[in-house]
Amino acid sequence: MTKFCSVISELVSRDNILVLGHVMPDGDDISSVASLTEGLRRIGKNVRAGIDSVIPSYYKLFFAVNSIETFEQLCGFQPDLIVVVDCSSPDRVGRFQSLLRTARLIVIDHHETNLMFGDLNLIDIKSASTAQMVYNINKAIGITYDSELATTNYLGIATDTGFFKYSNTDATVLKIAAELVELGAKPYFVASVILENKTIEQLKLLARMIDHTVIEEKLAYSWLSYEDYSTLGCTEDDSSGFVSELRSIKSVEVAILFSEYPKGEVHVSFRSKQWLNVSKIAAALGGGGHARAAGCSYKNADIKRVMDEVLKLTREALVGSEYEVGQIPQANL
Ligand code: AMP
Ligand code: MN
Ligand code: MN
Repeated sequence: MTKFCSVISELVSRDNILVLGHVMPDGDDISSVASLTEGLRRIGKNVRAGIDSVIPSYYKLFFAVNSIETFEQLCGFQPDLIVVVDCSSPDRVGRFQSLLRTARLIVIDHHETNLMFGDLNLIDIKSASTAQMVYNINKAIGITYDSELATTNYLGIATDTGFFKYSNTDATVLKIAAELVELGAKPYFVASVILENKTIEQLKLLARMIDHTVIEEKLAYSWLSYEDYSTLGCTEDDSSGFVSELRSIKSVEVAILFSEYPKGEVHVSFRSKQWLNVSKIAAALGGGGHARAAGCSYKNADIKRVMDEVLKLTREALVGSEYEVGQIPQANL
């Protein structure tokens, strides 16, 4: 039996299921948790869903996202199956990590740095999003899609491909997106909620990031301190997507944004354009991700020290790389 079939048969045979996503959730994670949870509910399962972070309010406009619960709400629940989605390592589920060994564990993910920490691991690094894998699972189970579920599932496919423009956008992505639109997904609604819903404070935060930007040929980096966020009344969610602006600069191969929020916690976001595998740098620093998009996080840290460490490693990776622009290998994401 293939791993895909094993996952389907486990999902169908268990009754009490807990679906978990990662801390600091993105659109793919929220979409995957909500779509899998709703799909399994539609075949009569007792399913609950958890994410150990505040979910940004605009995601709550999507169907089934409101039913995602907190760690406090879920710690008394005793599932016979736990499904972790879009997480490359067990610490990504935050405090839920303490529950992972209390039930059979399935991991469904698309990160090349996945540590295979489940009893059953369905990892497809060719899949552009975990939401795409969830769609294939729901389809194989025979879940009925309506416009609301289709839109929630489409959300993750759109966000993890940068709305169909990153190098992971392939024919399969577009075919699945088209299937979901046929089932009633609303692309304009998704684009409008995610891309056209900014506050003026977010734009001012972006201006600060641009002001702080340093360009060293193929490398562009910038930083936002806790003071930058707090003086504008912003949180870390307000800078989501900013690192792509750094990558968009001509001649830049790798872009890095250092963001400190809350005080002493530094998140590092890496993006690359054509050839540098940033997941290797992030993994070496305790994080993970994909070839073109990766990240790592520090606690009790000094942002300047983090910057020194990360930039040193990145400069070495750029210099030591066997590829030059003009001899670009096939993007492997
Ligand atoms: P971000 O830069 O936060 O948007 O993350 C880019 C990619 O890296 C996503 O696929 C994340 O799942 C992954 N990632 C970000 N932060 C971490 C981390 N601390 N540990 C593992 N993977 C991460
Ligand atoms: Mn994610
Ligand atoms: Mn993802």
